[in-house]
Amino acid sequence: MAYRAGRHFLQIPGPSPVPERIVRASSAAVIDHRGPDFADLGHSVLSGMQRIFQTQSPVVIYPSSGTGAWEAALSNLVGPGDRVLFYETGQFAALWKQMADRLQLKGDVISGDWRTGVDANRIEDALRADTAGSIRAVCVVHHETSCGITSNIRAVRDAIDATGHPALLLVDSISGLASVEYRHDAWGADVTISGSQKGLMLPPGLGFNALSERAIDASKLCATPRSYWDWDDMLAANANGYFPYTPVTTLLYGLREAIAMLEEEGLDNVFARHQRLGDACRAAVAHWGLETVCQNPAEHSNVLTGVMMPDGVDADAVRRIILERFDMSLGTGLGKLKGRAFRIGHLGDINELTLMGTLSGVEMGLGLADVPHRAGGLEAAMQVLKQ
Ligand SMILES: *Cc1c(COP(=O)(O)O)cnc(C)c1O
Repeated sequence: MAYRAGRHFLQIPGPSPVPERIVRASSAAVIDHRGPDFADLGHSVLSGMQRIFQTQSPVVIYPSSGTGAWEAALSNLVGPGDRVLFYETGQFAALWKQMADRLQLKGDVISGDWRTGVDANRIEDALRADTAGSIRAVCVVHHETSCGITSNIRAVRDAIDATGHPALLLVDSISGLASVEYRHDAWGADVTISGSQKGLMLPPGLGFNALSERAIDASKLCATPRSYWDWDDMLAANANGYFPYTPVTTLLYGLREAIAMLEEEGLDNVFARHQRLGDACRAAVAHWGLETVCQNPAEHSNVLTGVMMPDGVDADAVRRIILERFDMSLGTGLGKLKGRAFRIGHLGDINELTLMGTLSGVEMGLGLADVPHRAGGLEAAMQVLKQ
């Protein structure tokens, strides 16, 4: 590929751009993962991730994508024939349910419209209807990346508690963690699943399970055959700062740097920055006269903005023009939003001017693709950023 001047704008909602500091940290020499120096790195990332998840309980780190971390959570807790309740907030919730089918779980689905988040009342109703208490786990996506919708996880926990039902709460915060507020302990999650390539600003390749004491106890009673994903082996080795098999040492160097960067900025400031950039992006979209995919203002994503295209416009054609002309990648519409929406990522290592560059590429692209819109979205975004 011929050199293109300037930098590529990777404005997809994960993988997000990897900052220079993390690239450099990840390039250090690989060390003996059973040698005396490794334990410092191991302890540092394991305790650091407890602070990022806001939990006192252990966090398990896998050499995997987020999908692997989904499978890890399921295979330590449930097995063939077990009932698991899913809430279809969008494509990622649907894919997680599909995995449950392949693992021969009995997945019940509360269907959604892909434009609003989890309605905790519907989870409460489903659990009340399960008088036998046979549903073993409730699986919800905290931040639905296919639509740009954030769901209220504390409300889900409260709904489960209100019924007195024993189901565990499993939460996918693969794209929410480290960009928008997430509190594993305070919100009562039993397992929170995450990945490295979104808010953590790392390349793809690490998967996470944040656990609760209840989840660890339940896993000891779970007879599902498992090996690579087994929490027991992980927790035993992690206690001394090591891993049961070869970890991705280079990504762990990067993770240590990412945790340091997030803590230098301060998690609350990180969340406030994402809020400000999300507000500005939505102001531009509203000015253009286009609809966001998310229809509930309380659930708007600060990680990405899903933009609906008017009928008859192919969202992927708009993306293609923007990539060719301005060297910027935007997220494609997933599942039933394919061709109908595109997604503007504004997560991770991004500031005001990165967002303004992104929005200018989008506005020029709308013009070139003849998408009916009102010019001047950038001015609307700048008004928000100047406040
Ligand atoms: C990215 C993402 C996934 C999938 O993670 P992979 O690393 O691609 O396996 C799952 N759920 C959500 C919400 C995501 O954003």
